[in-house]
Amino acid sequence: MKKNNQRSIPKRVPMREQSAKERALNFNEVALGYGPEEAVAEASRCLQCKSAPCMRGCPVEVDIPSFVSLIAEGDFDAAIKKIKEKNCLPAICGRVCPQENQCEKFCTLSKKGEPLAIGRLEKFVADHERESGKISLPKKKGPTNKKVAVIGSGPAGLACAGDLAKLGHSVTIFEALHKSGGVLAYGIPEFRLPKTVVEKEIDFIKKLGAEIKTNIVIGKTKMIDELFSEGYDAVFLGTGAGLPRFLRVPGENLNGVYSANEFLTRANLMKAYLFPKYDTPIKRGENVVVVGGGNVAMDSARTALRLGAKNVYLLYRRTEEEMPARREEVQHAKEEGIKFRILATPKRFIGVDGWITAVECIKTRLGEPDESGRRKPVIKEGSDFLLPADVVIIAIGTMANPVLLEATPDIELNGKGYIAVKKNFRTSKEGVFAGGDITTGSATVILAIGTGKTAALEINNYLLT
Ligand SMILES: Cc1cc2nc3c(=O)[nH]c(=O)nc-3n(C[C@H](O)[C@H](O)[C@H](O)COP(=O)(O)OP(=O)(O)OC[C@H]3O[C@@H](n4cnc5c(N)ncnc54)[C@H](O)[C@@H]3O)c2cc1C
Repeated sequence: MKKNNQRSIPKRVPMREQSAKERALNFNEVALGYGPEEAVAEASRCLQCKSAPCMRGCPVEVDIPSFVSLIAEGDFDAAIKKIKEKNCLPAICGRVCPQENQCEKFCTLSKKGEPLAIGRLEKFVADHERESGKISLPKKKGPTNKKVAVIGSGPAGLACAGDLAKLGHSVTIFEALHKSGGVLAYGIPEFRLPKTVVEKEIDFIKKLGAEIKTNIVIGKTKMIDELFSEGYDAVFLGTGAGLPRFLRVPGENLNGVYSANEFLTRANLMKAYLFPKYDTPIKRGENVVVVGGGNVAMDSARTALRLGAKNVYLLYRRTEEEMPARREEVQHAKEEGIKFRILATPKRFIGVDGWITAVECIKTRLGEPDESGRRKPVIKEGSDFLLPADVVIIAIGTMANPVLLEATPDIELNGKGYIAVKKNFRTSKEGVFAGGDITTGSATVILAIGTGKTAALEINNYLLT
């Protein structure tokens, strides 16, 4: 591929997306993606740096220069094969990975202008493969006659299962919900990550040979020790961090106050995004207050807006700078009309006849940094104000899913209540490995995939040595 002259870097090719006005009224995907010509033009901006700094930012070490070079040459089939050598969920990662803090952060182009749009190129080539219907499967090793149970079908479990299947092991995923995908299915909304995209990437894992059994809660329906007595040789736990945190302020138990987890699960798994075709049991508020500043808060606010809210207020106790949400999501939320109320926090929830009617808020200011390094919010006494609300969504973080942990006391936890794992992803229980959010706390899709993949290699070593 011809190298670009560093002194005259062409501008990043913009990606088409639905206008803010249009998309605020529908659940269709916001990003419309690149066409083939745009993808080739964007890929041709790559400097093909010998040291490939972009790869340093990728937790699963995708060979970024090679796949980008293949796109620039127009060989899209070879490009997706190259990505899939390392990442089995590229259409998902191309959409939701925080590339700005990962691969794109290290791109040499960013020293002079905008970094290469690596995520958008990944999305393009993954979509191209799916739409063409020509999904090629990698070579698998011969059967090892070893059986592995993977608990949880989020990105950690899927990645682990896919790699174990490629290594020739027989893999069964056990999923508590009726739908597989973890947060990809029940958390991230349709307008950021369409369900069909998730389903197709899960199909790929199934085609690799992994079986998925839904509606089975390990720790309730079946215990880990039972899996061993049924002939499983190893177990991988990828049960995520899906237990919501609450504010613990008066009135939080009023009707109409949801955890983001419940609100998004109802919207996603009970098809509220297809309203009025589906009569989902979810309150469609006129005045919605969302508490929090992460991706989950943005997703909740934008979902409430699309369900018909007139006013959606986002209440955050720090400033926009400290918000953990991706910049792109914050910008999209603002463009769509979400009303940001920063430096404020709920004091109590007010209701009539058991239903929420308003949130009493109080203003904050930033104090000294806390243990997370972010400046701590300090209450400004006497600065109370009211926000009208018929729906409130609490999106202030999550904790470990407890069911399995309570049923398996011989699995040691760390100080934060997540599963303690050694470097090789082994837990304190023989033959049991763990990865993803259940070991790290709520993190990212690609980090979950990365731990799932490394754990698969460790399980393979455990089984074959
Ligand atoms: C709304 C939302 C938006 C997000 N946005 C982004 C984003 O834009 N980019 C990004 O990188 N990350 C994002 N994240 C974070 C990311 O989704 C998670 O870090 C990732 O999904 C963790 O993967 P996991 O496989 O560890 O767990 P999960 O995805 O949580 O999957 C765990 C699975 O295990 C199942 N399970 C739990 N207990 C049991 C049991 N006892 N038996 C059987 N099954 C069980 C659960 O039902 C679930 O399906 C977001 C998270 C949320 C909630």
